[in-house]
Amino acid sequence: MTLPWLTGTWQQLNRARLQQRLPHALLFSGPEGIGKQMLAQQLAGSLLCEHPDEDGQVCGQCRPCGWLRAGTHPDLLLLQPQEEGKAIKVDQIRELCTKLTMTSHGGRYKVTIIWPANAMNVNAANSLLKTLEEPTNGTLLVLVTSAPGRLPATILSRCQQIQFALPAEVLATAWLQEQGMDGAQAERCLRLSRGAVLHAPALLEQGALEWHDQCLAQLGRLYAGDILPSQLAKEWMGDKERQVLAWWQVWVQDIIRWKQAGKQPLDSQTARNLQHLAETVDCRQLFDFSGRISNALDSLGSGLNQQLVLEDLLISWSRLAIRGRRKMLATGN
Ligand SMILES: [Zn+2]
Repeated sequence: MTLPWLTGTWQQLNRARLQQRLPHALLFSGPEGIGKQMLAQQLAGSLLCEHPDEDGQVCGQCRPCGWLRAGTHPDLLLLQPQEEGKAIKVDQIRELCTKLTMTSHGGRYKVTIIWPANAMNVNAANSLLKTLEEPTNGTLLVLVTSAPGRLPATILSRCQQIQFALPAEVLATAWLQEQGMDGAQAERCLRLSRGAVLHAPALLEQGALEWHDQCLAQLGRLYAGDILPSQLAKEWMGDKERQVLAWWQVWVQDIIRWKQAGKQPLDSQTARNLQHLAETVDCRQLFDFSGRISNALDSLGSGLNQQLVLEDLLISWSRLAIRGRRKMLATGN
């Protein structure tokens, strides 16, 4: 089944398939966690199944469908980094290009999905160019990425780009409710995953809602001077810091929206926690702070001492608080 927010894109792709005008290379670009990769798999299925229906859905009965289910279809290649977070190497692309010159096993298409395509290093990308320039018949390459800007222009210009947007909130929350969440959970999880709807169920399973509220409350305690930056940095370190930083970014942006447009954060728990900040910290400082969180997120895994980075941010945050309290005193609030 097609994810509801991808129906339009799917129909467009399926029409191209039926009219036999699919290009040799597609680039699926857009935010993470919304189903680009799933749609690439779905397209592969419709090209490899022996009896897909009008809508391009696989029959589920034929031999290729069995291989697809087992993940062993010889004409569907999924190219990913050999280690998570690492580059796709030139050897992997060379091997792929050799495979693509051979005839297909099933007598149909040969489909390759490269995901994430921006993980190709320069040599790998260059090596792929030749295949993109002289494609063999019946091959389809689908490059999937959330960062098309990191791909060389030579690659981009040889792919037909399909852009994906974040799903409409109403579709995403309805879908999450179909997966078993209640309305409030769906709304909060969607917001915390920043629209990456497919990542939202995992947040609920991992107890992330409670943890989110706890982190936000801790930030409030830091602001009130009840906890030291170094204590909090220690607590947030480990496997948590990426998530906490991402949330912190959301909170800061929430406060900015609150101050600029009067839009209170959707859920009341978050609003209560952020209210005193919205009243005392000014927007320029918040924009500046938001930029610093982005830098900290970019620096994760770069070898910088993460605890120091985190502590530094927390110290700045508590200074904002001191300035904020002075301002409140000065204005007599
Ligand atoms: Zn089938």
